[in-house]
Amino acid sequence: MSKFRLKMARQRGEKVAQEHGFTAFRVDPFEIAENEDIVVEAKDPGKEGVSGCIVFNDDGVGIIYSTHVKSQGFRRFTVGHELGHFYLDGHPEEILNAGGFHASRAGFTQGSSSIELEADHFAAGLLMPSKLVRDVLASEGVGLSGINALALDAEASLTSAAIRTAECARYPMAIVVSAGPTVRYGFMSDSFKSLGRLKLPRKGDALPESATRNFNADAENVRSGRSSCAETDLSAWFEGSANISLDEEIVGLGSYGLTLTVFSSEEMPDDPYEEDDEDEKLIESWTPRYAYGR
Ligand SMILES: [Zn+2]
Repeated sequence: MSKFRLKMARQRGEKVAQEHGFTAFRVDPFEIAENEDIVVEAKDPGKEGVSGCIVFNDDGVGIIYSTHVKSQGFRRFTVGHELGHFYLDGHPEEILNAGGFHASRAGFTQGSSSIELEADHFAAGLLMPSKLVRDVLASEGVGLSGINALALDAEASLTSAAIRTAECARYPMAIVVSAGPTVRYGFMSDSFKSLGRLKLPRKGDALPESATRNFNADAENVRSGRSSCAETDLSAWFEGSANISLDEEIVGLGSYGLTLTVFSSEEMPDDPYEEDDEDEKLIESWTPRYAYGR
């Protein structure tokens, strides 16, 4: 998957939000669909794991989101994803070639097709344009507090807000999403990478001895969305210097069985580079997928 194409997809999402007059939070994907005469309906998809669909036919374009999806943030992301299939170059053609119907699946993190990843990045850009993200972060604290504020303002899932925060924040930060004793994926901001020769935890890695590992040992912590905070350092998680200490902020993501851990530090140096070419920085870092609703 070309990182360039993912960046283009995100920027297209940002542009569509702007073109439809959304210059402040929240961006409303339902209104954008309406402006385009796309009918949006909630339906039981009849298939497990399907979060939404888009249909191209003689009557026009229709979007369906699954009634299994309870969270409004997840619904908005799903509709944003389907809009990606409408707006992104080549997507309508690819879907029409496959019969005009496309079903999107929730919770993928590996092996997704390129149009699925692109649509996720489109949705992330649409719902959380970089400028609006930075405006929120500028007035918020480092780490989880900024992520929480963004998730609230943008009405987005905590995980997608965390990824966008790591992309847009001026301070170094990293996130790890885990399930039980195992890493699902990790993500570092570019300024975080500049803290040394670091190793990012990857899917399938065992969690190191840590507050997160202890937190996950009690499934109730995760299920009931508890949170916790601890001190750690770069060596414990990222094979970096033990002299650089980090906050390890932990939050259970509820029924998904996943945990989000956010690493940051008030004491770290600011990003030495200007933020102007944020796009250059991002493309490097896109390994995680936007897992739906998480
Ligand atoms: Zn899709």
